[in-house]
Amino acid sequence: MNNVSKLRNACFAWLTVALLAVVAAACEDDKTSGGDLRLYYPEIERYEGQCRYDNCRHITEPDCAVREAVKNGEIPKQRYESYAANIEEIRGKKKY
Ligand SMILES: [Zn+2]
Repeated sequence: MNNVSKLRNACFAWLTVALLAVVAAACEDDKTSGGDLRLYYPEIERYEGQCRYDNCRHITEPDCAVREAVKNGEIPKQRYESYAANIEEIRGKKKY
C-alpha cells in the first residue's frame, strides 16, 4: 500500500467516524426531544392518548389526563414535577 492510499483510507475512516458521531448526536437529540422522556416516567406514559391533544406535553395543555391524574393523586406530585422540570429544561435548551 502506498502512502496516498494509506492517507485515503485514514481519511475515509475519519469520515466514517465523523458521520457516525453526527448520526449518534442526532439520535441523542431525538431522545431528549421529549418524545422518549415519557419512557422514563411509566406512570405518566400510562395516561398517554387520554389527553385532548395527541402531542400533549402535560404541562399547560387543556384537558390533560396526566394533570388530572396528578390532581386526583393517581400520579405522585413529585414524579410529575420531576417530569415537568425535565420538559422545561429541554424546552429551554431548544428555545421553543
Ligand atoms: Zn397531557
